[in-house]
Amino acid sequence: MALSNMQLYNQRVKAKLPGGVHYNFHMPWEETPIHFVKARNSRLWDMNGNEYLDFYARFGSLIIGHGNEEYSESLKEMIDRVLSVSHCDLDAEALELISKYVPSAEMIRFGVSGTEIVQNALRLARAWTGKNRFVRFEGHYHGNADNIMGGKVQKKGDAPIPTEYFGDLKGTAGRAKDVLESQSYLVPWNDAEVLEELLLKNGDEIAAIIMEPVCVNGGGVMPAEGYLKKVRQLCDDHNVVLIFDEIITGVRMGLGGAQTYFDVKPDLTTLGKAIAGGGVPVAALVGRKEIMQLLVDKKVIHAGTFNGYPLGTAAVKATLEILSRNNGEALTSMNNNMLHIHELMKAEAAAVGLPFVIQGPTACASYHCCNEVLKNTSDYTFDIMSLDIMLHTSLAKHGILVSTISRLYPNISLSTEDISFLRERIGKAFVETKEIFD
Ligand code: PMP
Repeated sequence: MALSNMQLYNQRVKAKLPGGVHYNFHMPWEETPIHFVKARNSRLWDMNGNEYLDFYARFGSLIIGHGNEEYSESLKEMIDRVLSVSHCDLDAEALELISKYVPSAEMIRFGVSGTEIVQNALRLARAWTGKNRFVRFEGHYHGNADNIMGGKVQKKGDAPIPTEYFGDLKGTAGRAKDVLESQSYLVPWNDAEVLEELLLKNGDEIAAIIMEPVCVNGGGVMPAEGYLKKVRQLCDDHNVVLIFDEIITGVRMGLGGAQTYFDVKPDLTTLGKAIAGGGVPVAALVGRKEIMQLLVDKKVIHAGTFNGYPLGTAAVKATLEILSRNNGEALTSMNNNMLHIHELMKAEAAAVGLPFVIQGPTACASYHCCNEVLKNTSDYTFDIMSLDIMLHTSLAKHGILVSTISRLYPNISLSTEDISFLRERIGKAFVETKEIFD
């Protein structure tokens, strides 16, 4: 069979680009990149002229939608006026907007990537407490850095096991020796007992606890009732800095993020992705004034060539202005449309007999091909993941793009036409996936 334009183009790219993609995880399947030529609102068009509904949203960052006029005009205005300096005349406005909505954002520093800002948060926590290690949770993702991916999970009754690479999906070869073992403990999510036991034994060496307050990367698992408040209390009791990684949940769970939703205030918060709408990269490290004072006093270094770049700052300001207008009506309408889509997907799956659930916050939910919602990140087995990827592939074939295996990220331009587009195509994708299952 003759190769399509895009397949030929892929081959050309792959000759120079490792794996043909700009990122990769330790997954057994090969990504087939789609090269896009045009985008509008929630739709994308590829080099072969195929149209897609975009729930991929650039790993969740594109909350504003493609071609939002107000957003684009704000960025163009900034490019024309001041292309590249370290401080522009929108700093105060952008910072004040974040501070207005995010409870822990007494002070804010901008960076570029989530990976980098998480490392800066850990550095601040170590400097603040004078302690060395941090605690993280099974299934949570905090970026592409040596010290924070993969590892062995601490179970109840175990002597504290510093984490080490054992070939799991999120681990990687090539990192510095002992980097996991010497820096962190990896514990199960939603298990306060294990955490308490660890802090009682080793609290004097633990500087920080870092978590996704809703574990989106582990399958969309909500915190158990009272869990976040319990962790907050343990941090206070053991002089540990609580870091919420809200790089996904910030903005998508409302402008105040998960900390507002659950009414639990962390000491530090990391923001990224949707905070700048999705067109340009901005990450933010926000937190308590006393801790951020370490930056003012120059005791802790936080540096970066593009930190606070004008285009990014303009994007943060435009995004928060658009999303906060009229009591946040853009997000409310997006979530209502998305809930409608969730119901539609569940009904279509039931009609063809495909096991199917959707879980997590509406604006960053995950689907799974199983009968019951995952109660914990450890329930997200490789078998479920494999079924999810089959559906992901079928959905893409029928013009519905979802993110990181099974995530459904809407944007504020989502419309009734998009719902109709999905309704027309979804049945075919479900039937096809069911046939593969059978
Ligand atoms: N934290 C979380 C919760 C994330 O989801 C991600 C990215 N998926 C990161 C950190 C890393 O951000 P970045 O890819 O911008 O480095």
